[in-house]
Amino acid sequence: MSDLDRYTVELLDSLFKQQGTEKRPKPNELQEIADLFSLAVTREKTGSIVNLFRSLIGFRNRGISAAAFDITREQLVELAYKHQQIDEHMVSIGGRVGQALQIVVRADTRVEEYLARKDVEAPSGIELWDTILANQERIKKKLAMTDDDWNSFPGQIRHAINSVDELAGLIDLSPAAAEDIIRVTQNYRMRLTPYYTSLIMAGEVNDPIMLQSIPTGEMVDNAGIEIPPVAADHSPARLVDQFYPRVVTIKSTNMCAMYCTHCLRIAHIGKKDKMFSKEAYGEALDYIRSDKRIRDVLVTGGDAFVLPNSMLRWLLAELDSIDHVKLKRLGTRVPVTVPMRIDEELLNILEESNDRKPVRVVTQINTAREITPVSREAFKNISGRVCAVLNQAVLLRGINDSRVKMWKLCETIQEAYVRPYYIFNCSYRNPQFVHFRVPVERGRDIVESMYGNISGDAIPRYIATAGGKIPMHRSNVMGREGDELILRKPWSGEEVRYPDADRKEYERDDFSFARY
Ligand SMILES: *Cc1c(COP(=O)(O)O)cnc(C)c1O
Ligand code: SF4
Repeated sequence: MSDLDRYTVELLDSLFKQQGTEKRPKPNELQEIADLFSLAVTREKTGSIVNLFRSLIGFRNRGISAAAFDITREQLVELAYKHQQIDEHMVSIGGRVGQALQIVVRADTRVEEYLARKDVEAPSGIELWDTILANQERIKKKLAMTDDDWNSFPGQIRHAINSVDELAGLIDLSPAAAEDIIRVTQNYRMRLTPYYTSLIMAGEVNDPIMLQSIPTGEMVDNAGIEIPPVAADHSPARLVDQFYPRVVTIKSTNMCAMYCTHCLRIAHIGKKDKMFSKEAYGEALDYIRSDKRIRDVLVTGGDAFVLPNSMLRWLLAELDSIDHVKLKRLGTRVPVTVPMRIDEELLNILEESNDRKPVRVVTQINTAREITPVSREAFKNISGRVCAVLNQAVLLRGINDSRVKMWKLCETIQEAYVRPYYIFNCSYRNPQFVHFRVPVERGRDIVESMYGNISGDAIPRYIATAGGKIPMHRSNVMGREGDELILRKPWSGEEVRYPDADRKEYERDDFSFARY
């Protein structure tokens, strides 16, 4: 039999160490240990042995050694071997109770605050569903909508809220707020679907749904220092934007189901609903056809899912017919603003195209509130038909600019079949929404706080857009000493040494099969 490992020897030493005047266990404590001991001996379970050792550690911490229970070191050594033999990976009792379980306890403290606050500070639309349902009943009645109206895309758009008067009948608006909205909507369009309006919670001053959908006076008061948005200098062909050699976007429409107050394309989006002609699409497709380097095409907008199904089917088929186009992306907020749009025909179109070449749907969800049972169902259905559903959130003041809100957002969307992809620092280009901007470092701290604390594939990349997307993560490589790098664990600040690959070895050409 192999020797006991260092952890177990240390644990045994500590359990039998005499500490000054030895305290005696009470009779019930003697009985407790006797019972645990007999279970550990008779059962073929690691858990029974763990329970005994954990209990003994507890007593030791109160100054009572194992010897006080009339247990001998030899008996515990035997149990230590037994533990190791039962465990599939031969984990030692010292490693398990002395190390692993302690590490778990320490790690737990990093998420305690989040777990206590997440459902209070950032409840999801699923958790608020009862209130949202009550809102829906009220809104439906006020707008004289039938169930069919409510459950259909045309019904939601036909009854969309475009004016302050309509809005004031549905949510609490102070007269001052209403007046301000009238002033701003002379310049900026407002349109809330009845569904999206039902996510607004009464009594919340800066409700995250209102902030994203209802324009406020700041939007015009801040104006005057506008930096022209990406337009002429990035559009090599009609409807096309291009920063990168192999990825281009087609701005397929300027329409959206809802107009966001923080829209990057605020200058182009929603001024007037326009369908683009097939000639315009044709020119975009010709451009893509003519450049064999282009392999990934993003169909954005506005919102790709406001296009009629027939148009989407045609556009995807055209892209699929171009040999060098290997993948497509569709940009849409519709699953959060009017999930009713995701009908069976649309799902079939997505699946058909995905069967030819991968389709990814890229969405924008900024707060856990936007995930309701209905939007979750929409994302579930989409994710069953395409290769990935990805989220690009915008870091927005008051909406998702805290650890609790951002962690909750990322976990909630992951549970709704959506993978966090990017978090954008809100752009400096548009003065209309400077009031939503969050300092770059705050965003970085929030994103870094996720490492080691939530699932790795729920952690987005943090990006600033400045003529292309620039990752904003702090480097965790603190320095180098000889062949070793000093790395920093983002969750604890602890530095660890990491031997780097041998550069000489790496630069040799004669490796593997090249050596024969
Ligand atoms: C965001 C964007 C892309 C895609 O960038 P990825 O990093 O591949 O997601 C491509 N072109 C334009 C113009 C974009 O804005
Ligand atoms: S959905 Fe996108 S394009 Fe449309 S208004 Fe919102 S941010 Fe702008």
